Amino acid sequence: MLEFEQALQAMQAEGKKLALKCSEEQTLELALGRILAKDIYSSIDVPPADNSAMDGWAYRREDLGTEPGTLQVSQRIAAGDKTKPLAANTAARIFTGAEIPPGADTVVMQENCSWRNDSEVSINKLDKIGANIRRRGQDIQQNSLVLKAGLKLDARHLGLLASIGVAKVEVFRALRVALVSTGDELKQAGSGALTPGQIYNSNGPMLEAYCRDLGCEIVKNIHVGDNLKSTEKAFKESALDADIILSCGGVSVGEEDHVKQALENLGELDFWKIRIKPGKPLAYARLPKQDGRTCAFVGLPGNPVSAFVCCHLFAATLMRAMQGRQHCLPERSYANTNFAIDMSGKRPEFIRVKQTEHGLERFNNQSSGVLSSLAWADALAFVPEQQKIDRGQSLQIFALP
Ligand code: AMP
Ligand code: MG
Repeated sequence: MLEFEQALQAMQAEGKKLALKCSEEQTLELALGRILAKDIYSSIDVPPADNSAMDGWAYRREDLGTEPGTLQVSQRIAAGDKTKPLAANTAARIFTGAEIPPGADTVVMQENCSWRNDSEVSINKLDKIGANIRRRGQDIQQNSLVLKAGLKLDARHLGLLASIGVAKVEVFRALRVALVSTGDELKQAGSGALTPGQIYNSNGPMLEAYCRDLGCEIVKNIHVGDNLKSTEKAFKESALDADIILSCGGVSVGEEDHVKQALENLGELDFWKIRIKPGKPLAYARLPKQDGRTCAFVGLPGNPVSAFVCCHLFAATLMRAMQGRQHCLPERSYANTNFAIDMSGKRPEFIRVKQTEHGLERFNNQSSGVLSSLAWADALAFVPEQQKIDRGQSLQIFALP
């Protein structure tokens, strides 16, 4: 049996071996959610020049000495204007974002001034040299590293790239994922009412959305019945297009479970028993692709909560590593419980919790078939095996997307 941390490390190591090498140039709009393939350095200083943080007057501090005083106003500079040097013993009317004229070293905010017309200003408060000036390069210096390769680009990063004048970036091509839901009982939502014995396929749409959110391209999302032949065929065909296949269900060793056998017939199978709950055995396999590369395969459990938890912890770690990301392991933090429980199980358990101002609340039904618990929760809390958890105790939590 593998411990949880060992399984995470193994997924990360495997993903790094299979990481995408291929990248392409994309405009900022199309780069959203993609993984940066090259480090980005800035060719400019941001801001590119000293500029005013306030509406007020720019002047040379030494022109006033130790007493408040009055200066002639020799120019007016709004944001976007070009500056000219400031004449001695004068002030420049200046507005937020406008460049500081050469010769000025201080900005006094207009709240600390009095003026009757545009030609003269009385400065009533003496600031220190440099007051209210945003220095050239205070955000980003020319030639400095701005973003590191392996980052998933979001709105903040795109803003930062635009601020240094970058309009196109090199990103890894999207990871191609195929999804295969197994089970004779499954019916697609939207394809009619259930007949006896049927349930709707929740994992298919759920896993697709999860992978899209991760920045993956879904090459197919199919359903196969519980028989070896069609399972094998589905996996084999999916491996042609996909970098990774995620299946759900049929991964145990029952008579109706064919995933393990299909993988043994098609490729190289690692069958993992991970000491956690929920999470039945997890199948990991490498399937040969026609071009000589390897298609990764993760066989997730069928119960929707187990499928999601195993995807969020293990498959996502593998996929992030394959995407070429810097940070592959799931993010974790700590929070105190607002509940007490006696954990009798022999395996550590990931329970569905919500973070509130009173601490972590726990969903009242933690069964692995209860998808409402996941939809309600905003994190999974890691509860060590055979432990009594007191109210107020700190637990490790894994945020849900
Ligand atoms: P299995 O691992 O195939 O034995 O499935 C375990 C449980 O999860 C069974 O109750 C299945 O009906 C259910 N299940 C399997 N796949 C799905 C799916 N795609 N959507 C919803 N429930 C599923
Ligand atoms: Mg099944």
